[in-house]
Amino acid sequence: MAKLPKIAAAVLILHGLAQAPAGTQEHWETPSGPIDPAAHTTLMKTGNVNFVKRHGQEYRIVHSKGQTPSLIVMQCADSRDDLVTQAELPPGYVFAMGTNAGNIINPKETSLLANVAYHLKHLKGKNRAYVVMGHYGCGGIKGLDELEHLEPEIADHLRLALPAKEFVEGQLRNRKLNVSVETRHRMIVEANVLAQIKNLMSIKQVRSAVESKQLAVMPVISDINTGELHFGLPTLQQHGMLETAKVQFGIQKWLLNQHRLQDQQQARIQQQPKRTQRERLAQVLPKESRRTNGFRRNR
Ligand SMILES: [Zn+2]
Repeated sequence: MAKLPKIAAAVLILHGLAQAPAGTQEHWETPSGPIDPAAHTTLMKTGNVNFVKRHGQEYRIVHSKGQTPSLIVMQCADSRDDLVTQAELPPGYVFAMGTNAGNIINPKETSLLANVAYHLKHLKGKNRAYVVMGHYGCGGIKGLDELEHLEPEIADHLRLALPAKEFVEGQLRNRKLNVSVETRHRMIVEANVLAQIKNLMSIKQVRSAVESKQLAVMPVISDINTGELHFGLPTLQQHGMLETAKVQFGIQKWLLNQHRLQDQQQARIQQQPKRTQRERLAQVLPKESRRTNGFRRNR
């Protein structure tokens, strides 16, 4: 990576290819060939016709009632992970806090503050929770090891995730642990979710809502190799670093109750027979839409 031009390094890293052998030009040359937006239009039109056939009724019902999203999510800009798609959540259920490389929460960012304020004050979803979702294979997190080769705009943004890398490296040193490159990466991805929850909790309205038990905060990890979601931080937990991380980022008291609830919920799920997707969605959609055929069967 060190010998690549800045732009090449940025493209490689942010596409999750930072581990690719240096010098394999096909990974970082500017794509050539004619621009053909009509091809995208065709693809989108065809997909949308099918989508409206399957889900149009579901959307009409949600639209008629107005949105009352229960979840608000910050996730990475990576094109391979998306909470709504991976958890098969219905329309109207998830409001976007933001999307950026490394799922970074910058408490000084106007658009993020506006989304949070709007959600808290004007949207009345029940059982509200803020999800901070990181993902394995994150190019933004890999970029923390290559900041000096990145454009200033990208490096300035990613620096807000540096506390996660510093925490993991300190822990590996103190515990004299030798782990693989992949395990180290997963640890930083997970620690970064906690670091960003710390940033989230620095927003006064959010902290106040959590402390008055009107809002929960939840770490979620997406595995882009399988599409699986982890509702916890398995790599930090496996290496005995999870509680230390929560203390390091000063968020243990806010996550304590949440984890207890998740454990109880997980135990209940494991005791129950497997339900169909229709039965599962029936719990979150209003009664009217349960009578329709509008569930997302084919996503
Ligand atoms: Zn990412």
